[in-house]
Amino acid sequence: MNIIGLVDCNNFYASCERVFRPDWESWPVAVLSNNDGCVIARSNEAKELVEMGAPTFKIPPAARRELILVSSNYALYGDMSRRVTTTLREFTPDVEIYSIDESFLGFDGFPLDQLEDHCQRLRYVVRRNTGIPVSVGLSTSRTLAKVANKLAKKIAAYEGVCLLQPDSEITRQILEDLPVTDLWGVSGRLGQRLSQMGIVTAWQLREADPKRIRARFSVVQERLVYELRGIDCIDTDDLAEPKKNIMTSRSFGRLTSDPHEVRAAIRAHAARGAEKLRKQGSVARAIQVHLKTNKHREDLAQYHPALVVQLPHPSNDTRVIVGAAQAALQCLWRDGYRYMKAGVMMLDLVDRETLQHDIFDSPESDAERERSAKASAVMDELNRKMGRGTVRLGGTKGKADWKLKAELLTKRYTTRWDELPIVSLK
Ligand SMILES: [Mg+2]
Repeated sequence: MNIIGLVDCNNFYASCERVFRPDWESWPVAVLSNNDGCVIARSNEAKELVEMGAPTFKIPPAARRELILVSSNYALYGDMSRRVTTTLREFTPDVEIYSIDESFLGFDGFPLDQLEDHCQRLRYVVRRNTGIPVSVGLSTSRTLAKVANKLAKKIAAYEGVCLLQPDSEITRQILEDLPVTDLWGVSGRLGQRLSQMGIVTAWQLREADPKRIRARFSVVQERLVYELRGIDCIDTDDLAEPKKNIMTSRSFGRLTSDPHEVRAAIRAHAARGAEKLRKQGSVARAIQVHLKTNKHREDLAQYHPALVVQLPHPSNDTRVIVGAAQAALQCLWRDGYRYMKAGVMMLDLVDRETLQHDIFDSPESDAERERSAKASAVMDELNRKMGRGTVRLGGTKGKADWKLKAELLTKRYTTRWDELPIVSLK
């Protein structure tokens, strides 16, 4: 049986902050967005005190006194993410980065009876090497691995590792209790349409006739039925959680060492990602760019880098996102490797509407924002009418000189010599 693992870092941003401030352990830590506008991440303790997305100025004084508030420190989170992924590769060569704090692991051929112990060891070593706590969900499809991961986090008895056998009685009970809208890739609207067919729980979807689902929706939803039965048939690219992150990536079709080809691909992915953001009315706070060589070609040198770039302000502007993606690629690019895949992920999405409080103190002026919205709308319209990629951006550079308000910023402990933590022995 081919088991897939989903490793998810617990409260990732808050956990990164705690690694270098062990005195914050068990205190409520909340991370603020660009310009310190609102809460974008919380430790478990902070979840009782403040809502996700709460505007900073609206946090009641009583909660404020208890909370440790920090500005988002993407230099730190991006580097910690890289460290976690590096450690994961000690446990299987098959690591697929899904987002800044999640990776899919393939355990093809690994003895099943040793897998849970292996993953307990993985949790221990990741914690020891990086300071980050992780949870592991295991099953035979990505969708079920995701369900297993949630259980691993929620139910203490699993001790952070949960294996769901697709045909077990436990899996059946869990899926019967799971609203279909809690599944990966099932939006509220799709949930409504499913409920009209009498499908409310994940189990009912699993038991549905795949052909009927396909006729009513599409092949993606049909695959979801098979995934729930434990058959691995969805690619991570199809698994983007709407409103949370958007992934655009594609294989080159053959291996390439050509920097122009890779740059063009990154540009296209970034532009497509920005378009998807606009379509769902969201903006991203940061993006992640990744490159991959072919892991099955053991004769070739391997390189699987990923880099997170914080945007100067939450944006769905193609020019801003393409500029940031190109800058990231420039940092990641190494000659001498043969690349198989490149991708761009939009991170930390928020609704454009709910962003008002966050944007009023943004350095971007109203006029500039309006201009960029108009330009993007025209581009979308032309690309829709004339075919994707009709209007594209040239190699524009993002504005690198924007200054963010980040008054509560912690140090870039792992990426700057002058901000290294100092250890003193008494
Ligand atoms: Mg997480």
